[in-house]
Amino acid sequence: MGQLPSARYFDEAATLIGLSPADRKLLLTPLREVKVQVAIRMESGETATFLGYRVQHDNARGPMKGGMRYHPHVDADEVLELASLMTWKTAVVDLPYGGAKGGISVDPKTLTKHELELLTRKFVDQIHDVIGPHSDIPAPDMGTNAQVMAWMTNQYEKYHGHSPACVTGKPLELHGSEGREEATGRGVSVITQALLRKLGKDVRGVTIALQGFGNVGSYTARFLHEAGAKIIAISDATGGIHNHGGLDIPALLKYAGTGQGVKGFGGGSPVTNEEVLAADAEVLIPAALGGVITRENAGDIRAKYVIEAANSPTLPEADEILRRRDVVVVPDILANAGGVTVSYFEWVQNLQHYRWDLPEIREKLEKQMTLAFESVWSEAAMRKVSLRTAAFILAVSRVRRATDLAGF
Ligand code: GLU
Repeated sequence: MGQLPSARYFDEAATLIGLSPADRKLLLTPLREVKVQVAIRMESGETATFLGYRVQHDNARGPMKGGMRYHPHVDADEVLELASLMTWKTAVVDLPYGGAKGGISVDPKTLTKHELELLTRKFVDQIHDVIGPHSDIPAPDMGTNAQVMAWMTNQYEKYHGHSPACVTGKPLELHGSEGREEATGRGVSVITQALLRKLGKDVRGVTIALQGFGNVGSYTARFLHEAGAKIIAISDATGGIHNHGGLDIPALLKYAGTGQGVKGFGGGSPVTNEEVLAADAEVLIPAALGGVITRENAGDIRAKYVIEAANSPTLPEADEILRRRDVVVVPDILANAGGVTVSYFEWVQNLQHYRWDLPEIREKLEKQMTLAFESVWSEAAMRKVSLRTAAFILAVSRVRRATDLAGF
């Protein structure tokens, strides 16, 4: 377990707050790891067998919470890493939750809609007894969306009756929340602006390079563009595009929205993914896969500020290089917490059988994230540590305190 990237950051924080080896072991060891067979009959008539996972990392602060990822990279180690990140993430933004994560090792793009539905229902058949509105609440992540959450909820309800709070990120028509789909990108925009304000900079005209144009990347681009930032480079799985004068984001959203990605967009020149990471922008926002900022490319990054919209985009060795180069990194557990924050609002609405409107959700999101940013910033200033270390110190201290208070 010591080799997981977040375990390195955990250890650093644990040393600074004087956590004993026994406490470290307690807080790092997951409560439960589930690995199940998910077999379906494909439309071709063939049987296909996949592996599904749910790791429940910690529940000291509340029911466990975290997304379901459908991606070929999903395996036991990745899910454990992401589950522990959820424990620290919910603690940093002070949501009354613990952390979990799950998923299926599959490329959802290779499945028909019907196969995707079957796969999702079969997965729920295998894990329905370990999840639930008061124990562990799944949500969307890479490769899943509101439709998948609707199937998950419906399948869960076949066993347990009406329970909309069992899953978040559902469609609006099925007890979903206003503002959930945009939430992670909106949170990234809130945090980016909070950082710039702290540094006495105006978001208007600030240059940004963005890696990823899926749910998180596209909403991040939209909200930062609306705030007046100049987004000069964007890449996704199809390719990259650069325009030093600033990309026309509304036009790009329309273009990429038709399903073809950013490649071939006329409003700039083509660039590679690596060129986007090294673009001449003040702010770099990785909003796609994990592990993209490495020992090899960290030295090429020209941005002064990195906002981690993806989970684990920076490898620990790269993080050290960025620290030495005085690049300010806002860590994933703070920067991308907007999604789980609005998931929390969705859950609260479901439990109350009540509905809030979009302005209310946006206002609550901004308040929760700004408060979290302020706490992390003060902790970092007080202890003279990086924002990542400060965020881990806050998170680990809160989880430890709840664990101690509850007792065994
Ligand atoms: N998958 C998102 C994350 O990594 C959201 C989790 C949730 O809403 O529970 O934070």
